[in-house]
Amino acid sequence: MNIILFGPPGAGKGTQSDNLVRDLNLYKISTGDLLREEVKKKSVLGVKIKSILDQGLLVSDDIINDLIENILSNKNYFNRSIFDGYPRNFNQVKHLDILIKKYNQKIYCVLNLKVNQDVIIKRIIGRQVCPKCGLTFNEFFNPSTKENHHCDVKFLQKRSDDNEKTAKNRLETYTKETLPVLDYYKNQKILYEIDGTGHIPEIYKEIREIIHSLET
Ligand SMILES: [Zn+2]
Repeated sequence: MNIILFGPPGAGKGTQSDNLVRDLNLYKISTGDLLREEVKKKSVLGVKIKSILDQGLLVSDDIINDLIENILSNKNYFNRSIFDGYPRNFNQVKHLDILIKKYNQKIYCVLNLKVNQDVIIKRIIGRQVCPKCGLTFNEFFNPSTKENHHCDVKFLQKRSDDNEKTAKNRLETYTKETLPVLDYYKNQKILYEIDGTGHIPEIYKEIREIIHSLET
């Protein structure tokens, strides 16, 4: 079952896709991971990608599409991919369609995690990481306490780009680029809207119910 997981930055896509990977034996496709893996392999493409990233430039859709094709053409992953953060624009949607047909697969559903803007901003700007133990917290929603965290709070760090201005910019770009993508899948009747504001286990339960309804 190929699944596309959609949602703005800070909507909890990573957690939910990890749950699905574990329970449905799926293979997670995140373009960020694919790019990092290719760079690590030091392949011809990897060297090219590294120089693009080192210059702070965006990797072109063509390169992303090639990396996606490597996965979809691999029989080990046949019809069991979960796309996290891809396709992110209409160009990528069209290419994914071509690849899916070429390798005789199917997109079963597109799950859109919806979270209102104020909540997302707080999720992004409140994010804290403890470099000592690796746990992550959120000062608004999931603060570090004596019960859930044993290190001193003075160790907690924020990412420098997790401020309100960049958070708003990232959201705006996301909305502008992804609306046509969502419309496209809506017209195909495979788009499912999910309220991503609640607790992670409840959201996951809803996701599982949708998938279950597609299996029967
Ligand atoms: Zn810690």
